Amino acid sequence: MSIHVGQAAEAPDFPVAARELLGNQQLRRNVRHATDVIRAKRAKTVAETPDWQQLRDTARHIKDHVLANLDRYLEQFERRCTSAGGKVHWARDADEANRIVIDILRGHQATEIIKVKTMTSDEVGLNRALEAAGIAPYETDLADLIIQLGHDKPSHIVVPALHRNKAEVRRLFMDKMGLSELGEQAEDLAAAARAYLREKFLRVKAGFSGANFAIAESGSVSVVESEGNGRMCVSLPEVLITLVGVEKIIPSFDDLEVFLQLLARSATGERMNPYNSVWTGVAEGDGPREVHVILLDNGRTGVLADPESRQTLDCIRCGACLNACPVYRQTGGHAYGSIYAGPIGAILTPQLQSLEHSQSLPYASSLCGACLEVCPVEINIPEILVHLRALLVDKGCASLTERIGMKAAAVAFADGSNLETAQTLARIGQAPLVRDGVIRKLPGMLGGWTASRDLKAIPSESFRDWWAKRPAQKEHV
Ligand code: SF4
Repeated sequence: MSIHVGQAAEAPDFPVAARELLGNQQLRRNVRHATDVIRAKRAKTVAETPDWQQLRDTARHIKDHVLANLDRYLEQFERRCTSAGGKVHWARDADEANRIVIDILRGHQATEIIKVKTMTSDEVGLNRALEAAGIAPYETDLADLIIQLGHDKPSHIVVPALHRNKAEVRRLFMDKMGLSELGEQAEDLAAAARAYLREKFLRVKAGFSGANFAIAESGSVSVVESEGNGRMCVSLPEVLITLVGVEKIIPSFDDLEVFLQLLARSATGERMNPYNSVWTGVAEGDGPREVHVILLDNGRTGVLADPESRQTLDCIRCGACLNACPVYRQTGGHAYGSIYAGPIGAILTPQLQSLEHSQSLPYASSLCGACLEVCPVEINIPEILVHLRALLVDKGCASLTERIGMKAAAVAFADGSNLETAQTLARIGQAPLVRDGVIRKLPGMLGGWTASRDLKAIPSESFRDWWAKRPAQKEHV
């Protein structure tokens, strides 16, 4: 079984990628501006929702209940979707999911497919597999179109082209769409994309979508979006294929109400997404003639098996933790080497793929807790990051410096006299390095610590020494 999470397997480690991206001032300005705008909108709509905390608690409760009963709800979804005329497929991994999609399309002699924004198809590398099979995929979400035309990579799970500004998009559209003139306003760019895509919506006979939610009691699938392209993709083609991660199941239609309120506010700061599409199997005279739903594992059952980190699967991909994260806001999404960026990427990618493949990601955080504060389903990302770091140490993935440092600390802190000896030795050792009470550059393997900060020198007198020298106090009775 091969697990893919976008380009993670070939990507450089986070510190290497981040160092390069930090030098790109334009990208940093774009990311900061976009996340500032979304954060401010989110804060405003959350503040005007009096039952926000109850919604979060309810959502978390529903998600945890689903994860505890996932097999039952998935089978219920399969039964209901099938009885409504849909066809349900099960995919263990990326290769199997791609094979199912290609087989369905070949069965219809399809050579093109229109797609609505789906992280899961990026996760399994569907576009690459389709192109290798001679099938042309057309992204129809504006941001995904920008990424596809620019042979770029997504940098945010809700706003994939957030690292691009209007001027860059205008140049790209003029170049790739063969336009000799194009206005500079957002409306001009949207109009160009609309004209480019409209012809494809009307011509291409196969559509592809992801799913924000899959409803077990009715076998329905739901997609929320802002542009209307999704509605076109799921209603105009003759054949519709939907790829759904198994964790996207919710029990009932009523539960959707909770998640739609949380998702829109957390993702884009809107009270409601402009387009909420829900479809159930096939309906005579309405929509696609053939509806396929592929339920994807691709490492999710492995995450489910770990009680300490399974809450990762509660994620509704709103992106709020990315916008809040001080690390993401500096580096942008490409540093994470996966289609899942930011705090959720730092915990999801290592678990879906393998800890060894993405061992720097659990350290791509200051553990400040801003992600937990905004997460609509209250995923304790800092706790999971610490858990993953512990697993890495257990697997022997810690660096030599770290292992030696931790062993030395364990001995030093084992009792008071060891600590005093360590302090005395450190005081002698640091003497040639101290200037004005700080060490600016540590030698050798320790140099990483002072590469971007000073280290305060150990004081000449410890608290214990000072305490021992105090004149004896009279006891007050
Ligand atoms: S972890 Fe929480 S805040 Fe981050 S994308 Fe998922 S649901 Fe949103």
